[in-house]
Amino acid sequence: MLDRLPQPGSDPLWSLISAFRADPRPGRMDLVVGVYRDESGETPVPEAVRRAEARLAQAAPSKAYRALSGNAAFNAGMVRLLLGDVPARLARTHAMQSVGGTGALRLLAEMIAAARPDATVWSSDPGYINHRPLMTAPGLRFETYRLREDDRALDLDAMLDDLKAAVPGDVVLLHGCCHNPSGIDLSEPQWAEVSAFCAARGLIPLVDMAYQGFGDGMEADAAGLRRVVDENPTVLIAASCSKNMGLYCERTGAALVVGESPAAIAPVGPLLERIARASYSMPPEHGAAIAAEILVAPESWLREVDAMRARVNGLRSALGDALEAEGADPAFAGLRRQKGMFSLLPLGPEEMRRLREEFAIYGTDTGRINVAGLRHEQIAPLARALHAVSR
Ligand code: PMP
Repeated sequence: MLDRLPQPGSDPLWSLISAFRADPRPGRMDLVVGVYRDESGETPVPEAVRRAEARLAQAAPSKAYRALSGNAAFNAGMVRLLLGDVPARLARTHAMQSVGGTGALRLLAEMIAAARPDATVWSSDPGYINHRPLMTAPGLRFETYRLREDDRALDLDAMLDDLKAAVPGDVVLLHGCCHNPSGIDLSEPQWAEVSAFCAARGLIPLVDMAYQGFGDGMEADAAGLRRVVDENPTVLIAASCSKNMGLYCERTGAALVVGESPAAIAPVGPLLERIARASYSMPPEHGAAIAAEILVAPESWLREVDAMRARVNGLRSALGDALEAEGADPAFAGLRRQKGMFSLLPLGPEEMRRLREEFAIYGTDTGRINVAGLRHEQIAPLARALHAVSR
């Protein structure tokens, strides 16, 4: 059997990370790995997480099996974080703890396929590298809509033009905030248009929320999602605590399904639990227990997320200033207004290769850089290198 295994091509991100690790040059920059870093280059554990962990260790709860749907307090806390404390929304929402945001996407893909095996999922181009494998794994079709920026903002006409080919029951994948890889987000009026477009055409929004708090703030980042929930009968949500709680390796996330009414969501829980049972059974408790503690009294955690966001925004404007001082191409100006950890540089694979080979600066061939991986001392050399390869 083993001699018949198909060989998947090597993961392009992983080869870049290996090349970075093997690079001996002192000023090398890893802008590939998608984690937040502080000024010392570390991915910190938030203080709120440390405190919650200490309390949990003291309480030493049993490790006996929990539930297929995960930690109930966590699920309830996540619904409030995402949708606000609005009874009308909560009553029509089912939440299930998942193995990270990735696990939420996969659960939802399986659920969609169980109801509508011929549905097409429409995702942005450029888009998150794992959306296609996650959605097509249970057999769903996958198409893309254009996501690009004109000289000021997201080009909504291009996006909606492409989505006109979607048919009722198709799923439209949207990034709740901080689009990965581009940092190009829908503005408030654009959310209104997309929400109305989906409602009018019977398209089902699937909102991937992996960076809540990194764009404009915890509440502001959920505003588009909340509008979509209020204006559409069915909305799917995949949420991750990896970035905003720094719980990356604890694999903590949630899948939410919003239906037209409380009765409409009744079949959701049993089906999601059956899907989970047939793959990993129960989700890991530790990260969810930490998050549940934090969500009960989130104030100090929210301040820590504010500080992470302020740091990333500070890096964005410092990079914008440095590029302007170099006299770099105005195409880089988007870096300032884009949101969250990532941006796509206006550079092709050849320029990205030169960045690696001549300057030891590692981004992906598609031009993605993790702005949140930068340190301030790296801004000036990065701006010089970007200007040099783009001339
Ligand atoms: N969606 C998007 C857009 C992401 O960027 C990521 C990962 N960074 C995920 C989902 C998955 O998150 P997790 O690590 O929690 O599985």
